[in-house]
Amino acid sequence: MSDKRNQGLALIISGPSGVGKGTVISKLLESFSCNGDIKDTSSNFELSLSYSTRKPRGNETNGKDYIFVSVEEFKQKIANSEFAEWAQVHGNYYGTSVNYLKEIINGKRVIFEIDVQGAKKLINLCQERQCNNLSIFLEPPSMADLVARLNKRGTETEESLAIRYKNAQNELAAGCYFDKTIVNDRIEQTVVEIKKIIMEKESGNE
Ligand code: 5GP
Repeated sequence: MSDKRNQGLALIISGPSGVGKGTVISKLLESFSCNGDIKDTSSNFELSLSYSTRKPRGNETNGKDYIFVSVEEFKQKIANSEFAEWAQVHGNYYGTSVNYLKEIINGKRVIFEIDVQGAKKLINLCQERQCNNLSIFLEPPSMADLVARLNKRGTETEESLAIRYKNAQNELAAGCYFDKTIVNDRIEQTVVEIKKIIMEKESGNE
């Protein structure tokens, strides 16, 4: 059995807006640092920090939630080839720094919470650059459940909600591009499944 733990890992977590990616990832990171059964690896799991042109929400901080930039700054970064992937999502630009790929190749393990279009690009780039990667697609239990979660979040305007619902229909068809799909019904169960998938990947038992 090959041990891939010293290779670094791009853990790409995607799914439609409102499916709970952010909550699942924070619970996952929490479980690693508390009592994780892959405790020995917790110290080098890092959450990627994306660039976005969206306006910060009330409780968000620049440099913690996103690096918030203007559309002009974002376009300049595209021109400078600073992104591993970027996408226009729900009317705003989002992008992942290309520096993460180098870090992963040097042994870091990074979690990416990105949209479906960006995830497909990142998966392809990782494969091209032989960067160890694992992609997980989170699905809601139903469309009605997704709509209810987005409404409950209370962070979006009517217009932004309408765009997110519409995009979710297309995004849900993208599960086939990912290594694994998980229906995010109960967060605790989703976290357990993700940890199991990581362990299988790193022990070579995929
Ligand atoms: P939100 O505006 O709710 O923070 O994020 C909207 C969507 O953009 C979510 O699906 C989120 O995962 C995605 N996203 C966040 N960062 C990135 C990124 O760097 N690249 C891409 N392609 N999508 C991102």
